[in-house]
Amino acid sequence: MIYVKHLKKSFGENTVLESIDFSVQKGEVVCLIGASGSGKTTLLRCLNLLELPNYGSITIGDQAVNFSGKKLEKKELKELRKYSGMVFQGFHLFPHKTVIENIIEAPLIVQRRKRDSLVIEGEKLLKKVGMFEHKDKYPDSLSGGQQQRAAIARSLMMNPEVLLFDEPTSALDPQLVREVLRVIEALAKEGQTMVIVTHEMNFAKRVADKVFFMDEGYIVESGNAKDVLETPKKQRTKEFLQLLS
Ligand code: ATP
Repeated sequence: MIYVKHLKKSFGENTVLESIDFSVQKGEVVCLIGASGSGKTTLLRCLNLLELPNYGSITIGDQAVNFSGKKLEKKELKELRKYSGMVFQGFHLFPHKTVIENIIEAPLIVQRRKRDSLVIEGEKLLKKVGMFEHKDKYPDSLSGGQQQRAAIARSLMMNPEVLLFDEPTSALDPQLVREVLRVIEALAKEGQTMVIVTHEMNFAKRVADKVFFMDEGYIVESGNAKDVLETPKKQRTKEFLQLLS
């Protein structure tokens, strides 16, 4: 489903992703863990093309883009972007639109789909994330957890092959974290492919099929979540996990 090969990303002189290789199968949940600055968010943003890699290739579904050398076509980037949906740390809902308006905005504008059927579909997704009763409210009047659940529903509206989460609970008060993690766990059970940057190791243990530990721009250790988190093999992974315990 996702194949990443020799991916490299620099910001000026600063090389943030050195050479990244991994694959994610359909229905798998991968958690990306690692110290601050190790490149997790940059890797996630590269998958969604919010950042353009300098080298290597990304394949999602049947769309492959090679970033090495040749000039990139706008069309191929647009096609690849369609396969993933991003959920940000800070929700990024439109403040002047209600929840349901937020949810239907992208397919209404980008896909030019009919409003009535989008509202029906949007309401279904809001029920799924426990937000139906808030559908006509503005983001301002919602808790962070509710806003994040609305943001998840918004991403799901575009029917992405893979959902990308960038620390989805780190902007939330502790008592609101659970409701968001529960929604993500339910999606995992349904077989939604997801890549999640997280600092919540207990959550990673519960939800992830695989864990990738990143350090200084490399995936240093990867494997079955339980193995990486409970019996890591690499010294760097051990040190990182020890710091958290
Ligand atoms: P955290 O856990 O703190 O979010 P991270 O592992 O997600 O960290 P990144 O946010 O990917 O790390 O950042 C990796 C490095 O890339 C950092 O040194 C950061 O300063 C740099 N970086 C990220 N985005 C940019 C940018 N747009 N321009 C310049 N440097 C950037």
